[in-house]
Amino acid sequence: MKQDHEHKQNKKYGMVINLDKCTGCGACMAACMAENNVPFRKDETDKLLSTAWLRIYKLNNGKPYPETDICYLPRPCQQCEGHAGHSPCVSVCPATATDYDMETGIVSQIYTRCFGCRYCMAACPYHVRLFNWWDPVWPDGMEKYLSPNVSVRMRGVVEKCSFCFHRYQLAKDKAYAEGRRELAEEEYQTACTQACPADAITFGDLNNPKHKVYELKNDPRAFRLLERLGTNPKVYYISSREWVRRAGDNYLEHEKTGAVASGHH
Ligand code: SF4
Ligand code: SF4
Repeated sequence: MKQDHEHKQNKKYGMVINLDKCTGCGACMAACMAENNVPFRKDETDKLLSTAWLRIYKLNNGKPYPETDICYLPRPCQQCEGHAGHSPCVSVCPATATDYDMETGIVSQIYTRCFGCRYCMAACPYHVRLFNWWDPVWPDGMEKYLSPNVSVRMRGVVEKCSFCFHRYQLAKDKAYAEGRRELAEEEYQTACTQACPADAITFGDLNNPKHKVYELKNDPRAFRLLERLGTNPKVYYISSREWVRRAGDNYLEHEKTGAVASGHH
């Protein structure tokens, strides 16, 4: 295999979601479930029992008609970096079943190590982690449609969004076979990004000036959820509406608003 000796800068994969474009159609959610063998139940109305890795929240500005405004907010794992990889979930897992990958910045979940203590669920401020109370049950014949690239999860383990990490591995295998070390932006994209008909989700390497997310994350309308906690997430949101940005930062009445999070308040 041809070796190249390019300087390898650590990647930091992230997402920028434009909330002014999102229509709440749910295509991202469905694509995610299909891509990652996420089990579903006959009755998905009880969201506490649902295993969706990416969930869409409906926000409203709390004003009566005609000032009413709503916003849909898709919420995958925020892929927190914390300080030098100390994401809240990674810091508490006693089994190293969830880990921060320094090469990509992606927070993994290793099902065969997880023993279901659920510390990570308690530590995650974004409620993105889900516990498998049951073994997955698929409708008759559907096992044939499961993706061979993603392992199915058993009862007793926690799961969450992985930024479709298997796609990164597959793209890298292909690049290596072709004698390349670097991936082009379009070679690794998440399923939700590709499914969005409104082009609301942009995915790429936040450290790479050639990737679209590099610029987008610096948009003056960009914000992250609960910035003040210091979780340093790699999912950014954009909204031109101030009430949406405030909802994302989620300050309580008695707290100061507008302060940049340092994590030390
Ligand atoms: S598919 Fe796109 S428009 Fe639909 S909910 Fe997801 S982000 Fe929003
Ligand atoms: S959003 Fe939750 S699960 Fe994802 S990295 Fe942050 S703490 Fe961990």
